[in-house]
Amino acid sequence: MKVLVINSGSSSIKYQLLDPATADVCAQGVVQRIGEAVEPDVVTVEHTTGEKTFEYRGAIADHAQGLHVAFDLFIASGQDLADADLGAVGHRVVHGGEVFYEPTLITDDVVQAITDLSALAPLHNPPNVIGIESARALLPTVPQVAVFDTAFFHNLPAAAKTYAIDAETAAAHGVRKYGFHGTSHDYVSGQAAAFLGKDRAELNQIVLHLGNGASASAIRAGRAVDTSMGLTPLEGLVMGTRSGDLDPGIIFHLIRTAGMNVDDVDALLNRYSGIKGLSGVNDFRELGRLIETGHPTAKLAFDVYIHRLRRYIGAYLIELGQVDAITFTAGVGENDARVRAEALAGLERYGIRVDPDRNTAKARTARRISADDSEIAVLVVPTNEELAIARAAADLVG
Ligand code: AMP
Repeated sequence: MKVLVINSGSSSIKYQLLDPATADVCAQGVVQRIGEAVEPDVVTVEHTTGEKTFEYRGAIADHAQGLHVAFDLFIASGQDLADADLGAVGHRVVHGGEVFYEPTLITDDVVQAITDLSALAPLHNPPNVIGIESARALLPTVPQVAVFDTAFFHNLPAAAKTYAIDAETAAAHGVRKYGFHGTSHDYVSGQAAAFLGKDRAELNQIVLHLGNGASASAIRAGRAVDTSMGLTPLEGLVMGTRSGDLDPGIIFHLIRTAGMNVDDVDALLNRYSGIKGLSGVNDFRELGRLIETGHPTAKLAFDVYIHRLRRYIGAYLIELGQVDAITFTAGVGENDARVRAEALAGLERYGIRVDPDRNTAKARTARRISADDSEIAVLVVPTNEELAIARAAADLVG
């Protein structure tokens, strides 16, 4: 059985057709610049099968057209989805609120409930719903499954998920820590346990998902007990374009004194902050180059990023009491040896000793970067949210 995994964003759709049993990727692609007026020669859909890439050029009016074009590219590449032994479509859905914490077969009621959760994730759930609706229209006989980014954190202990604000207001408006990137934290902690030859139930783990978005989690015996993202994916670590933690008073200050409204501050903190806000670039490869050239604020951006990351690592070491593994994952975590080295520098007395050669060795698979005498294993484990979603969808539809 194959599963088509769809990650539908506000102006893009990423998709992958894969075999959940073998993890083989049969095809993948991305539809970009949805809703934008682009020149007819601009590539908006790129579809890859094996070594071959197929392109579509020109404007994509909406998500439905985007998926339609992608499905045509499947056919053009000799892989008609109608004959592809397609067992399910798995959709990444960002916010499941208090309602959804397991992979869920999509029905009209489920679509409505995900739509109703849009108040909690106005940037994410509406495009997720559009992706779901478009895929259901194009593949009406294939079961569709929603897999929620918040699910892994559904059972956070009360002390970890509760914000210290008026309890009635919080309850009335669903204000609690939900956490995000859960599919990745779940998958990576499982892979880390497998790498160590242990059952997850035997391990306490810290997972650092450091991509363009970034989050940390503390996992006790397979259950998430804390995570850095909150009601929204804005809280916590410094990210590519998001501020992460800050004094909430900054928001009132900017609204009162800088002539900004709520939407301006929302855009500032989500899109023009983080590494980009401090250095002008959000990609760590570019940040590294800027640091080399002596750029005035690039090193500060890096230092602020590391400072925040160490603060969370310290907090989770204390929360868990005893930690077996710290695992880096996602674009920065998997590739940036300097971030890994600095995040864990000088922590030998806490049982953490990174081996510099192992840390800088290039590899695409799960690996240990700690020294043999490091009490806590430090690992790099590639995340694979698409595979995790495909497996969840396949398990659900049997
Ligand atoms: P993700 O959100 O997991 O796709 O991660 C994307 C981010 O990973 C990019 O914005 C970069 O900052 C970072 N990244 C990707 N490749 C590398 C690399 N080779 N070295 C350092 N950072 C990288």
